[in-house]
Order: sequence, then C-alpha cells, then structure tokens
Amino acid sequence: MPPSQDVTEIAVKVQSGELTAEQATERALAQIAAHDGEVHAFLHVAGDHARERARAVDRKRARGEKLGPLAGVPIALKDAICTRGLPSTAGSRILQGYVPPYDATVVTRLLDADAVVIGKTNMDEFAMGSSNENSAFGPVKNPWDVTRTPGGSSGGSAAAVAARMAPCALGSDTGGSIRQPASLTGTVGIKPTYGRVPRYGLIAFASSLDQIGPFATDVRGAARVLSVISGHDPRDATSLDAPVGDLEGACGRSLRGLRVGIPDEYFARGLDAEVEESVRAAIRELEAEGCVLRPVKLPHTLFAVATYYVLATAEASSNLARFDGVRYGLRVDEGKDLRAMYGATRDAGFGPEVKRRILLGTFVLSAGYYDAYYRKAQQVRTLLRRDFDEVLQEVDVVCSPASPTPAFRLGEKVDDPLAMYLNDIYTLPASLAGIPAMSVPCAPTRSGLPVGLQIMARPLDEATMLAVASAWEARNPTRGLAPAMAGRD
Ligand code: GLN
Repeated sequence: MPPSQDVTEIAVKVQSGELTAEQATERALAQIAAHDGEVHAFLHVAGDHARERARAVDRKRARGEKLGPLAGVPIALKDAICTRGLPSTAGSRILQGYVPPYDATVVTRLLDADAVVIGKTNMDEFAMGSSNENSAFGPVKNPWDVTRTPGGSSGGSAAAVAARMAPCALGSDTGGSIRQPASLTGTVGIKPTYGRVPRYGLIAFASSLDQIGPFATDVRGAARVLSVISGHDPRDATSLDAPVGDLEGACGRSLRGLRVGIPDEYFARGLDAEVEESVRAAIRELEAEGCVLRPVKLPHTLFAVATYYVLATAEASSNLARFDGVRYGLRVDEGKDLRAMYGATRDAGFGPEVKRRILLGTFVLSAGYYDAYYRKAQQVRTLLRRDFDEVLQEVDVVCSPASPTPAFRLGEKVDDPLAMYLNDIYTLPASLAGIPAMSVPCAPTRSGLPVGLQIMARPLDEATMLAVASAWEARNPTRGLAPAMAGRD
C-alpha cells in the first residue's frame, strides 16, 4: 500500500521536509503508469510539467520560504478546466489540440498554494453525460470493476482519485457531475454553492448551473482544496463576494442538536435496495452523533429531470455556438463557403449526445416554443428552489442517496438517453436550487461497489455540510476503503 495518500498528510510532510514534492509527484505518476492503461482516467499526463513544478516547490522550501496549504500535492484537473500550455479539450474532438494561452482562476489558485498539476482527466464531451461514455476519446473504467462506469461527467477525475493516481482532483458539476461519479467510485466529491468557486477558464456547459469543485480521498482533503479555490474573482460576474470561512476547521465539529432532513421523495421507486440500506445506515449514525432526524418534503423533486434537461440544453445550445471552426480547435473546410465550413466543422467535431442537446436546446428556445418549455422550466426551477428554502428553515442539512444505483455496466444505458438522464434524479435538484451538496462514501454493496451519501446544505453553508460529512466519515467502519489497484504498484 503506497503510504501517505491524503491531501493534508502529503502537504504536512512536504512542508516539514519528510517528503519532497518530487517524491509525491513521482508516486502519483507511477500509479498512473501502472494503471491508467486500463482505467483511462487521463487524457493528458503532464509528467515533465509536473516534475518541473514539483522541483520548484522543493526549491522554494530549500530557500526557507513558507509553503502553501497544498505543498507538493499532486492534483488532476478535469479537461474542461483551461490550463496554460497544457491541452484542454473538454472531451471533445472539436477542441482536439487546443492549448489555452491562460490558466483558469482555480488553476492559478492551486499553483499559488503550491499544488502540482499532474494531468488532465477524461470526461463526457462538454460535461454532458453520467457515464463518461460520451467522451470523444473513449470511456473511463471504474477502478472498482473495470466492466463498469465510474459515472460522469467528471468520471476521469473520480477514477483517478479512487485508484490513488492522485489524492485529489477538480471536476465540474452542472447537474451532478461531481457527486454522482464520487458516489460510484467511493471518493469524496463536493459541488459548492453556485458562485462559490470562480468559473473563469472553465469551458462552459450550462452557465446558470456550472460549478467547479474538488474530489479527494477524504473529507478534510476535499475541504482544504475547496478553501483554496473558493472566493470572489472579478473575472467571473457570477462569483460571490462572500467570506469562505474555515472549512477545514468545520471538519470534526460537534453535530449535537443539528437537524437532518430526510426527504421521502429521495427514497422512492427506482432506488436500489442496497443503496437505500447503506445510506439509511449512515443516517442512523448521524443520529448517534447527536443529530435530530426529521422527515421533510421536497414535492417538486419529480420535475427536476424535465426542468434540468430543458434549461441545461438551452444554455448549452447558446454556449456551444462559439465552436465554429474559426477561433479554436478543429476546422473542416471543403473550400465552399463559410456556412459550409461551420456545418462541416460542427458535424465532424461534436459527438451524438452534444448534437442531441444542441438540437433540444435550440428547439426549446425557438420562438413558438419558448413559453411552453424554457419559460415554464424557469418557473418550475423557482418552485424547486422554494422547496429547499422552506425545508432548510426547518432543518440544517438534507441527506439522501447521491445516485439511485451503484455503478452500472459500460454499455448498459448508452442506447437509452432517457434512462441515462433519470440517473441524475437525486443530484439535479441541488444544482437547480444553487445550494451546496456533496457525496461521501458509505458502506459498499455486498458485491463491493461503492455507495455515496449525499449531504445538501443552505447556500454558502459548506461548513455545516462538511461537519456532517466528516462526522459520518469518522464513524464509517469502511472508511478509507480503496479498490485493489490502489494498493498495487
Ligand atoms: N449527467 C448530467 C448531464 O448529463 C449532469 C452533467 C453535469 O453535471 N455536467 O447533463
């Protein structure tokens, strides 16, 4: 078993000199070399770049300078996050070969904290999907069972952390793309409050929903990464100017008297029996920690899937208009005229799911249908948000499963987009409401597949959410469980 794999442990050891950033980086790169041929979590492994960077961190220490909170911590980044000098494709052929001239704000913040970027992770094309099978470059395999999906769309980031190729990673979550893969891979994944983490440099999918957030092997590590990347950025007009607070300090805080809401709507038909059992067992432990459990009602949950797939596709159709073969990435030009070039480029560059969504999105925004679909969906979104506003007055957090099933088999749902969309049922509401939500591992199924407990909290109250997650993690008898390949070198 490779030693010291958690974010905080690595940072402390690098700061004290017990471990060098270079050693931590080499260990991550060795794990990638050993297992990524099978898992395919990475689209680009930035070996030389990472080694150079790690040496710079070690030199900084040698000069006697104080190192940052992520000193020498290897981190993998979802390929939708722009990195200066490293390819950023968003899992799409249309951006194949694109190397951004700038870093996303989150990347700048990670580097300022002395983290080491080790590579870019595989994802569903433009973050559209729940299984990673929509990547233009081939799917990611779940390190727990390589015949199964790691979830999506941040499946590469989740799989990299699960297989201990990195102690942490960044993903993006528009409707569940951090929480669902975290749940399916037994990792911790956080979708922050909308606006908490700047999105400057994130290749956009649906701008009223997109949020960047961390994956990590443990809650404290995820909290540390989140605190590094959070906070106002003048380059993102949707970023909130609110204090971040001590997120790591919230881990380990007492839960005495905390009210936990259990929504009936999340324990309904379609929920796998073993997932339910595991999630309910975790919730019982919260009661033993001093929490008060209360049944709550989120009556508009039923409409979340329909609402999300109208709004997200509408926003995507607009955001993806910029990929026209003129400014970046692929160009297919048969020498006719400009329109023909646009058409040929987009036809060759986008995969079938992206095309489906652009068509759906364009349709719901079109003059004759706008009121029936887009406007209606906006109204329902308000109702969904009100559900949470009301419930989060009665309780401090809401707990549920993150995904209705454990990891499904690759190929199982590819021909049935609706079945795939329904998989997002438990993660979409928090996205539409803009509230923070996370997945933390609970007991696996009898066949050994991970299960995630979802914790949702009030806007900007990541601290309480993390306190609950860390209290459960501390009591979890299967804490720290990792797939076999995590321990094989
Ligand atoms: N699975 C959802 C979708 O396909 C959510 C994706 C995401 O959060 N990026 O849109």
